[in-house]
Amino acid sequence: MATVKTKKGKIGVTGENIFPIIKQFLYSDNEIFLRELISNAVDATQKLKVLANKGEFKGELGDLTIWVKLDKKKGTLTVSDRGIGMTEEEVDKYINEIAFSSAEEFLKKYKDSAANIIGHFGLGFYSSFMVSDKVEIITKSYKDDAEAVHWECDGSPEYKMEKTKKDDRGTDVILHIDKENQEYLDEHRIEELLKKYCRFMPVPIAFGYEKEWKDGKEVETDKPHIINNVEPIWTKKPSELKDEDYLNFYRELHPLNEEPLFWIHLNVDYPFNLTGVLYFPKIRSNIEIQKNKIQLYSNQVFVTDSVENIVPDFLTLLHGVIDSPDIPLNVSRSYLQADQNVKKISSHITKKVADKLSDIFKNDKKKFEEKWDDLKLFIYYGMMTEDKFYEKAIKFVLFKNIDNKYFTFDEYKDLIKENQKDKNGTLVFIYATDKDEQYSYISAAKNKGYDVLLLDGQLDVHFINHLEQKESGIRFVRVDSDTVDNLIDKKEDNEAKLDENEKEKLIEAFRTPLEDDADNYIITFVGGDGKGTPVTVVQNEFFRRMKDMSKITGGQGFYGDLPDSYTVVIDVNHRLFKKVKTDFEKSTASELKKYDEEISSLRKEYDELKKKYEGKSDNDIPANDKKKMDDLDNNIVSKQAEMKNKVKEFAKNYPVIGEMIDLALLSVGKLKGERLERFIKRSVDLIK
Ligand code: ADP
Repeated sequence: MATVKTKKGKIGVTGENIFPIIKQFLYSDNEIFLRELISNAVDATQKLKVLANKGEFKGELGDLTIWVKLDKKKGTLTVSDRGIGMTEEEVDKYINEIAFSSAEEFLKKYKDSAANIIGHFGLGFYSSFMVSDKVEIITKSYKDDAEAVHWECDGSPEYKMEKTKKDDRGTDVILHIDKENQEYLDEHRIEELLKKYCRFMPVPIAFGYEKEWKDGKEVETDKPHIINNVEPIWTKKPSELKDEDYLNFYRELHPLNEEPLFWIHLNVDYPFNLTGVLYFPKIRSNIEIQKNKIQLYSNQVFVTDSVENIVPDFLTLLHGVIDSPDIPLNVSRSYLQADQNVKKISSHITKKVADKLSDIFKNDKKKFEEKWDDLKLFIYYGMMTEDKFYEKAIKFVLFKNIDNKYFTFDEYKDLIKENQKDKNGTLVFIYATDKDEQYSYISAAKNKGYDVLLLDGQLDVHFINHLEQKESGIRFVRVDSDTVDNLIDKKEDNEAKLDENEKEKLIEAFRTPLEDDADNYIITFVGGDGKGTPVTVVQNEFFRRMKDMSKITGGQGFYGDLPDSYTVVIDVNHRLFKKVKTDFEKSTASELKKYDEEISSLRKEYDELKKKYEGKSDNDIPANDKKKMDDLDNNIVSKQAEMKNKVKEFAKNYPVIGEMIDLALLSVGKLKGERLERFIKRSVDLIK
C-alpha cells in the first residue's frame, strides 16, 4: 500500500466516546450492522446507476454484484461494492462528521428504552463498531482521476486516513470482528442474516460460490452464490403477474404453509408510497401463533416482522410483505402509532382488504362461500376491532346454518322474520355450537320450523356479542339455552299450572335422583305441548356465554370461577309427568296432608306469638314465650325435613322419576360413570 499522505483526526463527536454507547444500546440486536452496511453498498450502487442513466457517469457499469466475504484467519468480514465510492472529501464529510452532534444528545433522544430503537434505528455505517474492534474503509470514487482512500478507526474517536491504491471504483468496508462477536465469522450465521435482511434487496449480493455434487463430493463451482431476489413481485405491476407468481412468492416466504386463500397487491403512490402483497392464510385456530407474518420493508430492505403498530391488529393475521419508505424507522413504537402517515397507511390497508373481500363476495359468491370457514375468524376479528371494517364487512359477513347453507346478514334476517320474532319484535337467531352434542335440541327447534345456525368457531361467541351491540332488534340464543317452546318468547301462555304447595314437593321429588349434584341444577316446570321430551336440561344463554368468553381469555374472572349451572325443565303436559304426579298423589297424599296440617298449625301458633311481641325488643319477651317460639320453630323445621324425606323416599322407590332425569342428562352428555351404570340397570329392570 503506497501511502501518499496520512491524515489523523478526531471523529466529529463532541463529549464522550460514542462507541461504547452504540455497543451498549444495540447490544441485543447488533446483527443489524450487516443490514446497514449492505444497504449503504446498495445505495452507492443505485446512485451510480442513476448517474449512468442521466449520462453523468460515462464509464462501464459492469458487474455490480455486492460481495460479502469472510476471512477467518484474519478475523475479518468484508462488504465490497462497485458503486459510486467516495473521495477523500466525501469520507471527511460523510464518515468523519458523524451525524450525531454529541453523545449526550444521542442519549437524551433515545433514553426511553433501548427496545424502542432496536432494529429500527438506522445507525448506518457506525453500527459496524457494535461488533468490531477495528473498521477499515478502502474506497475509490467513480469520478475521473479520483484517488483511492484508506480510512481506519479502532473504535476510539480517533481515525486515520491516507491515500491508497485501488484498481476498481467502489468501496470495501472491512470489519475486524471483536472477541465477543465471533459468531459473525461463521458462514452459517452470515448466510442466515443475509437471508433475513437482504433477501429482496435490489442489487445482487454474493456470498461465496454455488456448490455442486461431483463424484460423491460437494465442490465449489465458479458461479457466485447470490442470496437475494432483486425483483420480488411486489416491485412489479399486478398486470405483469399471474396467480402462479403470487403463489410462488408465497411459497418462497412460507415454504411450509398451506396455500393462501387469496391475496391483495398493494400499490399506492399518493399521498404516501406503499407497495406490497398481502396473503390471506388459512386460519382455523389459535390466533396468537398466527400473528406477525407480515414483513415490513423499506425500499426492499427488511426492517421488521412485527408490524403491530403499523397495521390494525386483525391484519397482523395476514401474511406477506409491505414496503414503504414513508414509514419512519428510527422512532419509537409509541411514536409510530401517533404518526399521521402510519395512520393513513393503516386505514388504507384496512380499506383495501375490505374492498378485496367485497369484490370476491360480489363476483364469485361460490368461491367466497367455499373459503368462508377459513376466512371467518379473520373477518370476525376485524369486525370486532375496527369499526370501519365492520361497516363494510356487515354486507358480506356470512352465516352458515346447520344444513351448510350460507346467508348474508340481511338474507338471514329475511329468512327468519316470519317465524322467529319474539313478542317484542326482536329477531331471535338460534344457533348451535356442536352439531352432535346438541342434536336433540337442534331437531326439536327444526321440528318447530326454526332455522339453526352453526357457530362453532373460536371467536363466534365474541362475535355475536358484538353483533348484538351493534345491530338493533336481534338476539342470539343457543339452541339448548331453553326449551324449544321458550327459545323465542312469543307471548304464548305456557306456564305450568301447578299449585305452589304441590310444586314444592314435586321439585323435591325430581331433585332426588340428582343426589350430590342437585345444587348445580334448578328444577322448573313448563306447560309445553306434551309432545316433546318430558324433561330437558338447558343452560342459560347469558350465563353460558359469559363462561365461554372467560374460557377464551384464560378462564379467570367472576364467571370463569362459577361452577356450571343448568336448569331442568319438566313439561307438565307430558304423559309421563302426569303419571308421576298421579302416582305421587295416590301414594303420599294422605301422609303428606297430615304433615301439611301439622306444619300449618305450628306455624299459626308461632305467627300469633310473633305478632303479640311485634315491635318489642328481645328483652321484653317473657322467657317462657321465648322458649315456646324457639321450640315451635325447631318443630317446624324438623317436620319439614321429615316431610321432605317422605318425598325423597317416594322418589327413590319410583324409578320413572330417576329415569326421566337420567334420560335428560344423557342427552346432554352429563350421565357418566357410576350413574350411567345405574341408569342402564334401572332401564333393564323397567323393560319387563
Ligand atoms: P446513512 O447511510 O444513513 O446516510 P451512514 O453512516 O451509513 O448513514 O453513511 C453515511 C454516508 O456515507 C452515506 O450517506 C454515504 O454518502 C456514505 N457511504 C457509506 N457507505 C458507502 C458506500 N459503501 N459507498 C459510498 N458511500 C458510502
